[in-house]
Amino acid sequence: MLQHPYLELPKSFFQPVWPEPQQNARLVAVNRALMQEIDCDLSDEQLLALTAGQLEDASLAEFDLQPLAQKYTGHQFGYYNPDLGDGRGLLLGRWEDKNGQAWDFHLKGAGRTPYSRRGDGRAVLRSVIREYLASEALFGLGVPTTRALSIATSDEQVQRETFEPRASLMRVTPSHIRFGHFQWAASKGPATLEFLTNFVVEHHYPELQSLEEPQRSAALLKTVCERTAVLMAKWQAVGFNHGVMNSDNMSILGETFDFGPYAFFDDFQIEYICNHSDYEGRYAYNQQPKIGVTNCQLLAHAFDKVLDEAAQNEALEAFVETYNRQYIDEMNCKIGLHTVQPDDKNLIGDLLVLMDQHRVDFSLFFRRLAKWNQPDEGELMTLLNQPGAFVDWFQRYDARLQQEGISESERQQRILAVNPAIVLRNYIAQGIIEAAENGDYQPLEQWVEALHSPFEEHPGLAEFQKPPSPEQKGLQLSCSS
Ligand code: AMP
Ligand code: MG
Ligand code: MG
Repeated sequence: MLQHPYLELPKSFFQPVWPEPQQNARLVAVNRALMQEIDCDLSDEQLLALTAGQLEDASLAEFDLQPLAQKYTGHQFGYYNPDLGDGRGLLLGRWEDKNGQAWDFHLKGAGRTPYSRRGDGRAVLRSVIREYLASEALFGLGVPTTRALSIATSDEQVQRETFEPRASLMRVTPSHIRFGHFQWAASKGPATLEFLTNFVVEHHYPELQSLEEPQRSAALLKTVCERTAVLMAKWQAVGFNHGVMNSDNMSILGETFDFGPYAFFDDFQIEYICNHSDYEGRYAYNQQPKIGVTNCQLLAHAFDKVLDEAAQNEALEAFVETYNRQYIDEMNCKIGLHTVQPDDKNLIGDLLVLMDQHRVDFSLFFRRLAKWNQPDEGELMTLLNQPGAFVDWFQRYDARLQQEGISESERQQRILAVNPAIVLRNYIAQGIIEAAENGDYQPLEQWVEALHSPFEEHPGLAEFQKPPSPEQKGLQLSCSS
């Protein structure tokens, strides 16, 4: 573990904070696949000490850790909050893999910090398991995301709606810099903003280093807008509802960041709201791309003193163009098309309207579309409460496939390659959490492994590949964390 270069930033960006360790802690999960990916050779003893915040443990003596809480601000549900920062997470240091890529180790649930406001600085087992599962599920689906390395828990109880076991999660990603960091830097003045811009370019966008200002800031803004647009398109395509798209939850790398009351779809609903505290549906499914733009606008505003309106607009236009292109590519792929025709937007849009009207299971529909026109087509048709309503659409689909000119087996293969067989539904996450709360970590391990290869059939999990029962559907989980 190396010191964090974040320490080079002006003091206004962080405060050194020592974690409040968990006593008698134990490891709940270790992501061996991720460890291998980043060449991490920490022993379980070291990983436990790190994840439990026991930084004085003898096993960590070789590391010069200087944990810090980051300061940032941001818009929460449309309102600027100047008091944000890591309220319960600490950057511990970074790990460098064999290719020289550095990975931030960020401990969530590490205890109180100067930015905790009224919070207790802690995290509960339920919420860290949800983050662990979702980040690994999105990774398996090819969606940019922060990763989860390990979870530790203890007998300490934390009060939420009820008392729950305390736990902590090691989040891993090349950067923990959020849009909100730029909002904070801008509020401190142009010199602070320039410092942050240069830091981000040096560490994360080195290809922009040769540019002078204002081209450098313009290129950074545009690139982040494009990455965010790609992310939004991918969320829409996999049916991921984030739930809390505040600007402090938006990553400067365009990764999915901060998991709260998220949901992968069961039945498709265009206006689905997964966060039951989101009374106005600000972050509803069909709003996600628009909120992505809004957040990019907030990021652009941070550059008001550096970039003129034309440069800001260029970046925002790049978002829209990138989103439109990426979205239709992703959606066409889901139905087995690799080319894009002018009318495809309508073909996809009309399908989604039908799926919404008839509350069709999102992921099973696309997976079973491979069976369309096959002897076992019944498995697809039983998903459609009123198959008759889809007859016209299937005819249009058939006509469109003629233009594509692919064989039936190729169509099936394409569909099965991008539409998952297993999906992290909320009822499944809940079962995994309940098992872990009872000391059984095996389902968590089994699911993470499966979610890493979601396009394969997993016979051991066959019962979870059926349509969920009415009681299992649309489960909303507490958004306290
Ligand atoms: P979130 O909604 O999880 O993105 O959190 C928003 C802000 O509240 C962030 O600054 C968090 O660090 C902070 N926060 C969330 N939960 C807690 C907690 N239990 N204790 C202290 N701060 C928290
Ligand atoms: Mg957050
Ligand atoms: Mg959070």
